[in-house]
Amino acid sequence: MAVPVWLLDIDGVINAVTDDPDLRVWPRGQWVRASAASAHGIEWPLLAARPVLDFLRRVHDEGRAEIRWHSTWQSYAVNVGVALGLPDWPVAECPEFAESDDTEIASPLIVVRHHWWKLPTAQRVIDGGRPLLWTDDDARHQLRAQDRAGWDAWALVVAPPVESGLTPRQLRRIDTWLTERESW
Ligand SMILES: [Mg+2]
Repeated sequence: MAVPVWLLDIDGVINAVTDDPDLRVWPRGQWVRASAASAHGIEWPLLAARPVLDFLRRVHDEGRAEIRWHSTWQSYAVNVGVALGLPDWPVAECPEFAESDDTEIASPLIVVRHHWWKLPTAQRVIDGGRPLLWTDDDARHQLRAQDRAGWDAWALVVAPPVESGLTPRQLRRIDTWLTERESW
C-alpha cells in the first residue's frame, strides 16, 4: 500500500492564529513563538505547540506519510518550516492557487462559482491512488460533502480549531488512521 500523502496547512493547523494560546489544548511551556517571512518580506508571527511539531517530525522520520505544504503561504511555507525546525517538505503542486480569488467567495453575486482552490490538489492525491491525510482548519466550512464523495477510507480530513491548531485528540486520531493505513 502506498504511503499516505499529508497535505499540511499552516495557519490554524500548526500556527495558532491568536496572541493568547489556549492552555486547555496545550499547557503553558509547550508553546513556541517564532516568525517567518512571507510575500513582500512581511515577517509574520508564529505560535506553535511543541507536541504538534514533534509529532510531525516523527511521522516524517518514520516514513509514515509524505508531508507536503498546502497553504496560502505557497512557496513561503519553506520559511515556516525553517523557523520551526521542521524537515524540508515540498510545497504541494497547486496551479489553482494562481487562479484563486478569495474575493469571489465574499461576493453574494458570484457565490455560485464557489470552488475551493485547495480541493483539486487533494483530489489528485486520491486519483493517484494514494491515501490522503488533509489537515486544514478551513475544511470545516469549505469542504462540502459532495466534494469528498467516494473518498471514504482513502481520506482523513481534520479541521483544527483556528486559535489552537492541531489538538491532542486530533493527533491521536491521525496516529490511529496512519497505523490503520500501514496494515492495508
Ligand atoms: Mg488555515
